[in-house]
Amino acid sequence: LKRFSGCLLCNSLKGARVLVTGASTGIGEQMAYHYARFGAQIVITARREKVLQQVVEKCLSLGAQKAFYIAADMANESDPDKVVDYALEKLGGLDYLVLNHIGPSPFSMWKGDVDHTKWLMKVNFFSYIQMAWKALPSLEQNKGSLVVVSSLLGKITSPFVAPYTSTKFALNGFFGSLRHELAMKKSNVSISVCTLGLIDTDSAMEKVRGITDVQAYPATDAALNIIITGATRQPELFYPWFTYFIAITKDWFPSVTDYIIQNSYNYIP
Ligand code: NDP
Repeated sequence: LKRFSGCLLCNSLKGARVLVTGASTGIGEQMAYHYARFGAQIVITARREKVLQQVVEKCLSLGAQKAFYIAADMANESDPDKVVDYALEKLGGLDYLVLNHIGPSPFSMWKGDVDHTKWLMKVNFFSYIQMAWKALPSLEQNKGSLVVVSSLLGKITSPFVAPYTSTKFALNGFFGSLRHELAMKKSNVSISVCTLGLIDTDSAMEKVRGITDVQAYPATDAALNIIITGATRQPELFYPWFTYFIAITKDWFPSVTDYIIQNSYNYIP
């Protein structure tokens, strides 16, 4: 599939104008490099300017037609709009908006930190809908694609991640609804929501080390699958593949599902 998609992707992504968020590390960084290899024009964003600068340099060396960065904090009210405006100005329009960033959140039992949850909602959810709305006119003009990086934890619940899973459920709900509306308006913008299982990024591995033995899948492969999903305008990605079966079978035997989830962590009360 990847080899076949490769040829089609080369044509459709060469020169494509792409904005990737959360691209200083992890899956976002890997997506920036893949887009670069395809010869895309890229704007990347995250908070750390120095790291972004290095990622941009690598993108240019890998073959990006253009690569720019803008440092932004998605918890700030005005930064989501600022980033989209910057990308529109630098690239002259957008074909892909890839929403991927997440704020750091503890992997632990919920201890009542409502302020953290509100802050995380700003970073992981409100900034996504703000950027999507701002970019929509340009995406409309260019038969573009909106790609939202979500999680299996936006489909099923799990312990230790209450604030994070809330933000992912919110994304799935919002962009599922928006997809209906765009279809009903006969819009030519596609929305791809990507459901990922555990991926071997530094931040994820740091959290789960010693707590679970669930296998982690490679960030570079996850990144390529996300790009293929956006470029082929598919509504959903499930990566790795078995996340699809978990998502559709979770309600068949709820108490069995709960038992498996609770026992997949090393936790002693
Ligand atoms: P990382 O933690 O590696 O990267 C997060 C990115 O977001 C970084 O570039 C970070 O850069 C940026 N970021 C953090 N806070 C802010 C902020 N306030 N404003 C702007 N940017 C910010 O994440 P992953 O690569 O692991 O995850 C990427 C996506 O994949 C996420 O949407 C995640 O939910 C999803 N996913 C990941 C899984 C995994 O196991 N890794 C599993 C399921 C889904 P900086 O610090 O420079 O701001």
